[in-house]
Amino acid sequence: MSSADNYAEITARIGAACRASDRQPETVTLVAVSKTFGEEEIRPVLNAGQCVFGENRVQEAQAKWPALKADYPGLVLHLIGPLQSNKAGDAVALFDVIETIDREKIARAVADEMARQGRTLRLYVQVNTGLEPQKAGVAPDEVPAFLALCRAELGLTIEGLMCIPPAEENPGPHFALLEQLARDNAVEKLSMGMSSDFETAIAFGATSVRVGSALFGAR
Ligand SMILES: *Cc1c(COP(=O)(O)O)cnc(C)c1O
Repeated sequence: MSSADNYAEITARIGAACRASDRQPETVTLVAVSKTFGEEEIRPVLNAGQCVFGENRVQEAQAKWPALKADYPGLVLHLIGPLQSNKAGDAVALFDVIETIDREKIARAVADEMARQGRTLRLYVQVNTGLEPQKAGVAPDEVPAFLALCRAELGLTIEGLMCIPPAEENPGPHFALLEQLARDNAVEKLSMGMSSDFETAIAFGATSVRVGSALFGAR
């Protein structure tokens, strides 16, 4: 199947998952994760009507998105991979949403760059719901203090929380935990669910799902 066919199928599955949970399909945004794929794979999905894309590396995104942004003015680009503070300026210049704010140094660097560049990005805090040592993200019990720092000290608006559950575990409890943290801390949006579990994430309240391989094929 072509990526445009995959796109139609995923959109239909998101719609069905919304209906199964009594949710409106417009309440869930598909973030098409295009990492490792090039313009020739991305353009058919853009032409099919998709305008929200996710990349996990700043440098890779810089190489392929400026030309596409010029051709598709309504594009919204999400950074979904770890951000190093020396790349904060490049990230703020290119992306519209950063989903991976996970420590004070990065929050400060992004706040400083937004002020310097006069750009306001939408920001998410990544939560390490499985407390995996190799994974980025704020520990669940540190979320309230980290949000307070972002909000009160840095003046940031945190739009949502994001998580990547441990690969070998049932994702449901992780999605439930993220939803609870968002509710307890007055955070509006939930970025959770990937190719293998986006329907489950929608049942637990995801407002955006990050789908890569089911859309573009194996990496
Ligand atoms: C690659 C990636 C995805 C997409 O994963 P698939 O399983 O290919 O859908 C989602 N979120 C993050 C943070 C990723 O790095």
